[in-house]
Amino acid sequence: MKVFKFGGASISNLERIKAVGEILLQYPNEKILIVVSAMGKTTNALEKVTEAFFEGRQEEALALFIGIKQQHLTLSKYLVYLRWQETEKALKEFFTEVEWLLHDKPVRGYDYYYDQVVCIGEMLSSTLLSNYLAEINIKNAWVDVRDIIRTDNNFRNGTVDWDTTAMHIKDQVSPLFLENNIVVTQGFIGATDENESTTLGREGSDFSAAIFANILDAEEVVIWKDVEAVMNADPSKFPEAVKMPELSFSEVIEMAYYGAQVIHPKTIKPLENKNIPLLVKSFLQPTLPGTRISSTRVKNLPPIIVIKEKQVLIKFQSKDFSFVSGQPVEFLHDIMEHLHLDSSLRQHTAISLLCCFDDTDKLALLAEKAGEFFDVEMLRGLRLITIRHYTEAEIERFTDGEQIILSQKTKETAQFLIAEN
Ligand code: ASP
Ligand code: MG
Repeated sequence: MKVFKFGGASISNLERIKAVGEILLQYPNEKILIVVSAMGKTTNALEKVTEAFFEGRQEEALALFIGIKQQHLTLSKYLVYLRWQETEKALKEFFTEVEWLLHDKPVRGYDYYYDQVVCIGEMLSSTLLSNYLAEINIKNAWVDVRDIIRTDNNFRNGTVDWDTTAMHIKDQVSPLFLENNIVVTQGFIGATDENESTTLGREGSDFSAAIFANILDAEEVVIWKDVEAVMNADPSKFPEAVKMPELSFSEVIEMAYYGAQVIHPKTIKPLENKNIPLLVKSFLQPTLPGTRISSTRVKNLPPIIVIKEKQVLIKFQSKDFSFVSGQPVEFLHDIMEHLHLDSSLRQHTAISLLCCFDDTDKLALLAEKAGEFFDVEMLRGLRLITIRHYTEAEIERFTDGEQIILSQKTKETAQFLIAEN
C-alpha cells in the first residue's frame, strides 16, 4: 500500500487533474490511498469568506463564496460527462453546508468558523477527483476524512487523537481496499467527537498523508509537487541550486525548522517512527526520480540555504538584572506556545533572550504580555540566512558587505541575521 498526496498546485486546473489520472495509470494493481488538498488557492479564498462573515460583512462573504462555487462547477462540467449529475449534486451539498452557516450571525469564535468554512475546499477537490477517476474507469472509494481523523476542539490547529483515528482507519478505510485499489480522501482536516470540522494547520495535508501511512503501515508516501525534487536552495532566487536525490528525516526536520517550505514539519515523525520512506516527486515529470527521504544517513550534502525575509528580532531583557531563567522564561515560552509563535533563531545572554520571528500581528501581543517580566525591544526589517553544511566560502558569499545583526554557528548550521536592504 502506498499513500499519495496531491497538493493544491497539482490539482489546480483541468489538465492537472487529468494528469493525476495519468500518474495513477502508471501504478496498476497497487493499493493507493490518495490525500488531496484544496484546488489551487481555494484555501486562501475561503479564508477571505470567513473573515468577511466574521466581521459582519455577510453579503460580501456570500458573494466571495459564489466565486468559489462557480470555479468548481465550471471545472466539473469539463471534467466529468457521464457522472456530471451526481458530481454536481455532491458539490452542491457541500456548498449548502457553508451557505447555511453564512446566513447566520457569528456567535462562536473565529477559529471555529474558519474550520467549518475552510474545510470545504478539500471536500470539493476530493469530490471532483474521485468522480473524474471513476469517469476514466479508475474505480475508487471516496471517504469523508471527518469521519476518520479525530481531533480535539483546538480549531485551526487540532491535535490528533491517534487511538480513535487508528480505530476509524482500521474499521472504515482498510475494508474499502478489499473492493478498490484506490481510496480518495482529504488532507488538512479532521473533526471533533461532536462532528465539528477542524483543521490541522495551514499546509497540513502532508501531515494527513503521514497519519494514514503510519496507521496503514504503508510502504511509502509520495508527495506530488510542482518541483522536480527537493533543492538545496530556492531555484527562483538561486539558479545554480541543485537537486538532492536523497535526504534523511532528520535533515528535513532541520530544514523545515529553519523555514524551508519543503514539507510540513509534522509530517516526518509519523513516518520516521515506522520507517516509512517519503518521496517528493514532480507531477509534471513523474518519471523523474525526485527526492527520497528516509532514515538512511546521507553524506556529502551540498550546503543547504534557507532564507527567511521580513524577520523581527525581539530582545527580552530582564528588568532587574536577574538571570534570564526560571519562571519568567517559562512564562515567555508559554505565551509563545499559546500564540503559536515559533522562533527559528534564539540566543541567550546573561540577562536577555533574543528570538527571531516572522513579522506577524501576533508579535505586538507577545511584546505586551512579555512586558510584565521583561523590557522588550523589537528590531524589524531583517533577513535570516541559514546555511546547513556550510563552508567558509558559502558564509562569505552571503555575508560579505552585509550588516550582521546576529550570528550563530554549530558544527552543522550557520545562521546570520542581517539587515534587509
Ligand atoms: N489546503 C490547505 C492549505 O492550503 C492544506 C494544504 O494544502 O496542505 O493550507
Ligand atoms: Mg497546499
